[in-house]
Amino acid sequence: MQDLHLLTVRETADLLQTKQVSSLELAEHYLSRANTHKALGAFLDCSPDATRLAAKAADQKIAMGNAPRLTGVPIAHKDIFVTKDFVTTAGSKMLKGYRSPFDATVVARLADAGMVTLGKLNCDEFAMGSANENSFYGKVHNPWDTSRVPGGSSGGSAAAVAAGLAPAATGTDTGGSIRQPASFCGITGIKPTYGRASRYGMVAYASSLDQAGPMARTAEDCALLLSAMCGADLDRDSTSLDLPPEDFTPGLNDSMKGLRIGVPKEFFADGLADDVRAAIDAALAEYEKLGAKRVPISLPRTELAIPVYYIIAPAEAASNLSRFDGVKFGHRAADYKDLADMYKKTRAQGFGDEVKRRIMIGNYVLSHGYYDAYYLQAQRIRRMIADDFQEAFNNCDLIAGPVAPSVAWTLGDKNRKPLDDYLADIYTLPASLAGLPAMSIPVGFGEGAMPVGMQLIGNYLQEGRLLNAAHQYQLATDWHLQRPVIFK
Ligand code: GLN
Repeated sequence: MQDLHLLTVRETADLLQTKQVSSLELAEHYLSRANTHKALGAFLDCSPDATRLAAKAADQKIAMGNAPRLTGVPIAHKDIFVTKDFVTTAGSKMLKGYRSPFDATVVARLADAGMVTLGKLNCDEFAMGSANENSFYGKVHNPWDTSRVPGGSSGGSAAAVAAGLAPAATGTDTGGSIRQPASFCGITGIKPTYGRASRYGMVAYASSLDQAGPMARTAEDCALLLSAMCGADLDRDSTSLDLPPEDFTPGLNDSMKGLRIGVPKEFFADGLADDVRAAIDAALAEYEKLGAKRVPISLPRTELAIPVYYIIAPAEAASNLSRFDGVKFGHRAADYKDLADMYKKTRAQGFGDEVKRRIMIGNYVLSHGYYDAYYLQAQRIRRMIADDFQEAFNNCDLIAGPVAPSVAWTLGDKNRKPLDDYLADIYTLPASLAGLPAMSIPVGFGEGAMPVGMQLIGNYLQEGRLLNAAHQYQLATDWHLQRPVIFK
C-alpha cells in the first residue's frame, strides 16, 4: 500500500487489527518517508533496528489476538521525553548523545499500549521557544511552506505529523508548545489538565506548567492517544493526579446542542490578525449551526499572562537547569582550571542563547530583593488568572479563541526579537498558568495559504468535552483533512 501515511491513527489501528497491513510494513513506510524528507529537519534520532524489533513484536501480539487497540501503530516522540532505545537531547548541545537508562512514563505507557516508536523529534532547546529556531540541531521547516517556521517548541512533532512522517507524535506544552505548532502546521493537539500526564522522564523546563499531550490529524486520534498516555504515576511524579486512566472516546459523539461556548473579548482585541479572526469567526458560526451558543465572556487579566509567565517559567527553568553542571551527565568542557571554571565553561558551551537568557532572568527574579517584587507578585497574579477562568466557566461550558495572533512567520527573520515571540504567546499562556486543558484544531487558512488553528479551553478535567467538541466540528468540516501538496 502506497498511501499508508494518509491514514489517521484510528484508520491505521483498524487495518492492523484486521490484518490488512502489518506493523513492520508501516514502520518501513514511515522510516523511508522520514529519510526522504530529512531536509524538513523534523527527526533527530531514528534507530531503525529498535523500531523494526518493536513492530515485529506488535505483529506477533496482533497474531495472538486480543492486542490493545493501538498495537502496531507508529508514533514519534518529542526529544524532551527520555528514551532507552533512542538518544535524548532536548534540542540542546548539553545533552548531545545522551542515552537515558529508562523510558519516560508517557513513552512507556504508549509502548505498553502497543505503539511502535519511529524516533525522536526536533524541538526548541529545553522546550524554550515558539518557532523551533532555538534547537542546537537545526531548524525545522513548516511543511505548508518550508520558508516558514513550524511553531514551537514541539515544532518537529507538528511538522512530522503534517508532512505524514508519523501518524502521531507526542508533544509537551508549558506555555503553548503543543497548541501553537499544531495551529501553525494545521494539525490537532491537546494539552491535558496539569497533572493528567506524568512528567516522569520529561526533561524539565518549568515544572509547575509542563504537560505532555498528543499531536495528530484528528480529535478522535488525540482521544485514543490521550486515553493511553494519561493516568496516575504517584510514585514518580508528585504532581500526578490520583485518577484512574480514562477512555476519552465514548463521549466523542455527544451532541453540540445547547453547548455554551465562551468567547473572551480580550482574545479578539487589537493585535489579532484579520485572517485569523475571520477563520475563528467562521468556526464559531459552524458551531452555532451544530446547535452550540456563543456567550460573550471576559478574561480581564489576559495581557498579564505574558509578564507572569515570563517570570515564573524562567524562575523554574533556572533551578531545573542547575543540574546540568558537567558532573552527572551531558556535556563537560574539555579544559578548565578548577571546579568553578569547569561549571562556567561547561554551561557557557552547552547552553544556547535563549536558554542562557532565561537562566539569567530566572535567577534575577528569584534573587534577594527582587523575589517579592517579581516572583511572588507573579504567583499572586497567576492565581487571579486562574480565578478569572472559574468566573467565566460559571457562564459557559468551554472557551474558544485564537491560538496565536497570526499564521506561521518566516524562518530566520532577523527583525524578529525574542520579545516578539514572547508576545505571540498571549492566547496560550493563560490556560497554562491556570493548569487548564486546552487544544488546537485546524479551522481554515490565512495569509500565504497557511493553516489557522482555533483554541478550545475547558475547565479542569474536561478533556472529554474538548475532544467531543473538536470531533463534532471535524465531522462537519474538512480542514483537518487538508495536506500540504508536496507531502501527499
Ligand atoms: N513559547 C513558550 C516559551 O518559549 C512556550 C514554550 C512551551 O510551551 N514549551 O516558553
